[in-house]
Amino acid sequence: MTNRSLAHPAPPTTRELRGLALYRERGDEIEPLGKGRYTVPGCAGGSYTVDLAVFGGEESCSCPDHARHPEYSCKHLSAAAIFRAKARAKARREQAARTTARASRASLAPLAAAL
Ligand SMILES: [Zn+2]
Repeated sequence: MTNRSLAHPAPPTTRELRGLALYRERGDEIEPLGKGRYTVPGCAGGSYTVDLAVFGGEESCSCPDHARHPEYSCKHLSAAAIFRAKARAKARREQAARTTARASRASLAPLAAAL
């Protein structure tokens, strides 16, 4: 991992762009298997199993591209990482909405009791 400034991020690689394209086109077919593992659709039919190694270890994908070049993230790994980031952002938003709703109910309770 190189230490790059956020002001001058590295340009996205072709694999990352292909992962983004895969997520946009078929992200609804990505299925979480738990513990950072996902089923990601393949372009030629079928699907691959991706492990984002969220508990440590090495990221992996069952596709031939990753087998040939395990040092790079394949597009399935990139698509699964985008899927996970979006799912986590959605969960945080929902948690924040629940917390806000609970807080506003609590602050209205004394008022409701007085009526
Ligand atoms: Zn792959």
